Amino acid sequence: MSHPKEERTLVLVKPDGVKRGLIGEILSRFEKRGLKVIALKMSWPTKEYIAKHYLGEDDWLEMIGEKNRIAFEKQGLDLKEKMGTTDHKEIGRKVKGWLEEYITSGPVVAMIIQGMHAISTVRKITGHTYPIESAPGTIRGDFSVDTPIAANIEKRAVRNLIHASGDEKEAAHEIKHWFGPEEIHSYKRSDEDVMF
Ligand code: GDP
Ligand code: MG
Repeated sequence: MSHPKEERTLVLVKPDGVKRGLIGEILSRFEKRGLKVIALKMSWPTKEYIAKHYLGEDDWLEMIGEKNRIAFEKQGLDLKEKMGTTDHKEIGRKVKGWLEEYITSGPVVAMIIQGMHAISTVRKITGHTYPIESAPGTIRGDFSVDTPIAANIEKRAVRNLIHASGDEKEAAHEIKHWFGPEEIHSYKRSDEDVMF
């Protein structure tokens, strides 16, 4: 196993984050925590490209369905009435389609973040998938307020500013998808000797 401070994760500032002028704010949250940007670019992805980013594997589709079940139950709303089904995978597939529309609606900023337990640390800084549930102090909790209920009624993805890899498997796949080895840089930050 490599050292925890070598861990890498992929972050995208989604089109709503770019259009709202939040690239710098988002980047600085990671930098201030002591994480290092080791690759960075802006691109306007195609649907085909995003379909290969979100693989939509069975466990991901299931997870999206389950998150919806919980969110609807919490609000006392009927999942079947709003989504036309209670089947987790079918809900997951619908969300995946909306997500492809959302991420391709404008340019995104892609970056690789490296640092101490980068995958889970970045997720904590990012906040809950549903901004309405995100704690204040997190990026989603400070700058967004969308809910899956509103998004599902409007047949669009939840707007939550950022994508961040969910686990090691996603991080490995996504880093390779977005960056070639020649685009990834190795350097030392001046505060590394002081921080850890
Ligand atoms: P993340 O890892 O926190 O970004 O969340 P997921 O991997 O679960 O979902 C990917 C993206 O799909 C989210 O960031 C949202 O933009 C969108 N999304 C997730 N769940 C829902 C949902 O229940 N309804 C809608 N409309 N969009 C969703
Ligand atoms: Mg995810």
